[in-house]
Parts: sequence; C-alpha cells; structure tokens
Amino acid sequence: MVETLNIQLQATESPRYQTFDFSNITFGKVCADHMFIADYDNGQWQNAKIVPYGKISFEPSIAALHYGQSIFEGMKAYSNENGGVNIFRPIENFKRFNVSAERMCMPQIPEEIFMGGLSQLIDLDRNWVPKKHGDSLYIRPFMFATDEFLGVRPSNSYRFMIITAPAGAYYTEPVRVKVEMHYTRSAEGGTGFAKCAGNYAGALYPSLLAQKQGYHQLLWTDAKEHKYFEESGTMNAMFIIDNVLVTPSTSDSILKGITRDSVIQLAKDWGMQVEERKVSVEEVMKAIEKGTLNEAFGVGTAATIAPIATIQYEGIDYELPESRSFAPKILQALNNIKFGLTTDTHGWNFNI
Ligand SMILES: *Cc1c(COP(=O)(O)O)cnc(C)c1O
Repeated sequence: MVETLNIQLQATESPRYQTFDFSNITFGKVCADHMFIADYDNGQWQNAKIVPYGKISFEPSIAALHYGQSIFEGMKAYSNENGGVNIFRPIENFKRFNVSAERMCMPQIPEEIFMGGLSQLIDLDRNWVPKKHGDSLYIRPFMFATDEFLGVRPSNSYRFMIITAPAGAYYTEPVRVKVEMHYTRSAEGGTGFAKCAGNYAGALYPSLLAQKQGYHQLLWTDAKEHKYFEESGTMNAMFIIDNVLVTPSTSDSILKGITRDSVIQLAKDWGMQVEERKVSVEEVMKAIEKGTLNEAFGVGTAATIAPIATIQYEGIDYELPESRSFAPKILQALNNIKFGLTTDTHGWNFNI
C-alpha cells in the first residue's frame, strides 16, 4: 500500500453495504459508500480526502462541461480466495491515465495520489467488493477541468476523483457486430489512444444506429480508408486465424487496452503465435469464407472477453463458428489470476 500521502478521512455514519443486494447487481446504478477527491489548483495537487459518496457542486461555467477536458479509467477489484482484495494491474491504469492527461492538456497526477487514494478507498470500502466468484467492484478514476471560465483554453484547475460500483459477472451472449464503413471513432492524429469522455460521446450516435439495426456494437475501421479494423465497440478486437492470434497493433487511434496486453502475454506464455499488425477487413472476410477464421472477440475490463457470433459487412451477416476454444480458456485463465486461484506469475494483482 502507498501510505505516504496524507488523506483526510471522513467516514460515513450510515454505510449502505449491509442493505445492498449483492445477489442482484445492476452495474453502475449504486456506488459504494465513499469517494476519493483531490483538487489541482495553483500548480499543485491538494486537499486529498475520502468522503461519503454524494453530490458535488460546481458553477455552470466549468470548463469540462463546455470544452470536454475530461478523462477516466476503468478497472476492477476482486475478492481473492484468502479473504483479501486484488486489483488487476492498476499501475497500468495509472500510467495510461497520465498519457490521456497529457493529450488533453491536463496535469499529470502523481503516483502517490492515484495509487494512495485508490488503496485507501478500496481498503475502506472492502465490504463493497462482492464475494461471489465472477463479480467485482468496478473502479472509476476520473479527472475534469474546473475553471469557472467560458473562454477556450486549457483549464488551470482540475478535480480528480475515484468512485466505485459493484459489478456482476458479465455473461455476454456472443455478440452481433457491424463493420462500420462510414462513421469513425478516432482518426490518425486524434484522441483515440486517450481515454477521454469525448471519444465516447462521438461514438454514441453510430452505435445507436447499429443497435437499431439489431447489432450490439460496431467493429470500427480506420478513418482514412475504412479498410483496417481498429476496435470493437469500446474493446480491443482480436481474431484467431489459422490458430494465430491476430490483433490490430496499437496506434494513436486505438486505445492500448490492459486486457489486450494481458491476453497477448498469456497467449505467448502458452506458446501461441501472436501477430500485432494491421488487420484488414478483407483478410478477415476472406478467412470467414475459407473457414480459417476460428474465433473473433472483443477484450476489455468490462466484459473481459466478448465472443463475436456475427459480423455484418456491407449489409450481409456472416456467421462465425460456434465452437470456441481460445476465448473461454483465456477468460478462465484471467479469472483464475484475478480471484487468486492460480499463481500470479506476472505479478498483475495489487493486493489490498
Ligand atoms: C477502456 C477501453 C478499452 C479496453 O481497455 P482495458 O484496459 O482492457 O479495459 C478498449 N478500447 C477503448 C476505446 C477503451 O476506452
């Protein structure tokens, strides 16, 4: 645990975890008892504190609401078999948060604030980490611009917060995805590699159109030519072609997923061939036709692994094989590490 930071603690007098129904979790609806707050003002991070979860108040003119300087992270804490709590690879989220911050002209957050705030918050709210295997406590660190000023320029003041919410095991029925040939999530030189709020806002409309046509999410293609796969919804995309794990290499238009990195690492541990490179739509569609596309799936913190059942391309639905061996195997392997059921050979768990 990171203990150097002085965090003012105001614990709630009426904790809600005893009355929360852990057998019936709707993700994101109820947040845990406490939240972490730190403010950036006059070039310094200050007033680190943990307070009861609740409303916050700002003037309507704050910069985040108008010009979108707002970034976030997403990770999960799991109950391990020995009664402790494991957070999966939070240092990677910390590093990526600062990469996002730089792109959005926001200040870097020191490790003792991000990790120190995280450790103390999860320690305090450990009763909110579901005990049931598969369930978890979702952790949402975020930062937004708080200057009360309507002019366009990077804000001088910011708020960093961490809130958490119980999440049930995410049983994804295999998903139906549509290859997006018109809209784009991000372009070269844009903000696709940053986990910023605006990327999500811009993706809502095309995603909604696809949902109205009966698809769960989009398979995004590159902005310039719509020839190469980028991501699947808000997850990284992976394909198994002729038993080789193929995934688009990360770029400034693709978010560098921590699940993606973990899956690649485990696949390599198992002696599987892994190719990080450009993956063209044509290559994948040909592989489907020839029967050499074994599996396709999205990878990300929310679902971990989301197998794809159907890919729609230029109006035609292509069905993928139902037999999947890699996706369930990798999901199980990752869960075994997160829940402390197997040796954590890569040192991925941050134990609290
Ligand atoms: C968060 C996110 C992912 C998944 O990243 P993980 O670190 O694996 O959770 C993938 N794509 C986008 C666009 C994201 O925002």
